[in-house]
Amino acid sequence: MKLLSVVVPCYNEEENVPYFYEELLKQEDKLKERGIGLEIIYIDDGSKDGTVREVRKLREKDERVHLVSFSRNFGKEAAIYAGLSKAKGDYAVMMDADLQDPPALLPEMFDYIDQGYDSVATRRVTRKGEPPIRSFFARRFYALMKHISKTEIVDGARDYRLMTRQVVDAILSMKEYNRFTKGIFGWVGFQTKWLEYENIERVKGETKWNFWKLLLYSLDGIMAFSTMPLAIASVLGIVFCIFAFLLIIFIVVKTLIYGDPVGGWPSLVCIISLVSGVQLFCLGIVGQYMSKMYMEVKNRPIYLVKEEF
Ligand code: UDP
Ligand code: MG
Repeated sequence: MKLLSVVVPCYNEEENVPYFYEELLKQEDKLKERGIGLEIIYIDDGSKDGTVREVRKLREKDERVHLVSFSRNFGKEAAIYAGLSKAKGDYAVMMDADLQDPPALLPEMFDYIDQGYDSVATRRVTRKGEPPIRSFFARRFYALMKHISKTEIVDGARDYRLMTRQVVDAILSMKEYNRFTKGIFGWVGFQTKWLEYENIERVKGETKWNFWKLLLYSLDGIMAFSTMPLAIASVLGIVFCIFAFLLIIFIVVKTLIYGDPVGGWPSLVCIISLVSGVQLFCLGIVGQYMSKMYMEVKNRPIYLVKEEF
């Protein structure tokens, strides 16, 4: 019998914890036929509601239920890392507690593992039920990432992914503090099969993401998997140097021919303010990378555990 570890990050999901359990167990027989047993690892990401209480209740009747409870909210990326570290399975799968990742897909996913794929990932082909403005910016983000990052980051990719032990270990070997999971999966590589499905709206509770959080998250993603902004800063620097050089020649020649009538300060003000704006912009980009580096160098733990079973 092989073991499948199901990793479920939960942040204020008390209603979904038992519901998810029931839905998952509906697939138990089908998995058993393939010789696969289950363990369920709930990660409580510093929930303020009864998430931990609900997991404890499940544990009382089922030994295969596990919990890692964080001391505060560390974010889904940290929760995924904690879950994969705790997973003992020959395979691991990550699923949202809100059942937006249908467990019914699991048997099909194992078909592909049997065919020799190392990992089976899912992507949404529609964004039904999402605010249009959010979809628009999400699309722009993926289009941009395609151009500026060498790592493959797939549009609409969910974190719902089945992996062999080998892939799990590869992901665990990446101990960086700024964890952009979608990029990390792309970075480790391996043979990945993509399954597509239509977006499913969450059953209970509310999404934990608002527009601002997503915007910051996308900036993290760009910083973590592309150094293109640094290149842009350098190119801007070069362009402005060339411009300045030409301007110097022009002004010297002009002064030699026509003398130096006072004037021209409006253009001077324009040039100074434009150039200093660009300078600050580029300095900001460099500063962003430096702040990320600062956080990495501190080498803080990715998460802190309060309770575990
Ligand atoms: N989640 C988490 N920590 C957070 C935010 C979210 O563990 O800080 C979990 C959440 O409980 C859920 C999953 O990550 O199981 C996906 O979150 P959500 O459904 O809010 O995101 P969406 O599906 O809207 O992208
Ligand atoms: Mg969700």
